[in-house]
Amino acid sequence: MEPHKVLILNRSFEPLQVCDVRRAIVLLFTGRAERVEDTADLIRSPSLAMLIPSVIRLQRYIRRAGNHALSFNKKNILKRDWYTCQYCGRNGGERMTIDHIVPRSLGGKTIWENVVSACRACNTRKGSRTPQQAGMFLIRKPSKPLSALYLTILAQSARHLHVWEKYLPAEAVGSLTGNGDSKEVYPCNGDGRSPSPLF
Ligand SMILES: [Zn+2]
Repeated sequence: MEPHKVLILNRSFEPLQVCDVRRAIVLLFTGRAERVEDTADLIRSPSLAMLIPSVIRLQRYIRRAGNHALSFNKKNILKRDWYTCQYCGRNGGERMTIDHIVPRSLGGKTIWENVVSACRACNTRKGSRTPQQAGMFLIRKPSKPLSALYLTILAQSARHLHVWEKYLPAEAVGSLTGNGDSKEVYPCNGDGRSPSPLF
């Protein structure tokens, strides 16, 4: 199972970064942070047992270093898609390929909204066809991440999104769950509705 991650909020409740449980506990025990949300899981040592935190808040306000530019590259596309094939849902880690939803040969652009992670099998099966031509459906609609910071936070949130969501801007979460605004609409079966017959 994926290890727990902890969301660190600034004193102002703005999300700052994600850390591992060990670092979060050090911040709590040294009084530099307070608990905001806990998981239901316990961490035990010989002398104590405590709930593993899910969200902590710094006691001091930290001035945030400039927001790093969001690069459009394979690594970040895979991060946005949780290293999960957007057609079959399989998690293939770094071995995932990038699929152009509307293939380049049909005029599809290389932009956030037209590329998704795909496993080799799905990418080969789809070939140079649109999802509809191939009879395949996207798990969710891809969009451009709000910023590099939120891409990093959300990429580590797979297990915690239901808790972290309320501390993140809706536009940031939408970019990952497929609820964000997007000018393009792709056939999608992730929300239980029937696929839109656009292709
Ligand atoms: Zn697949």
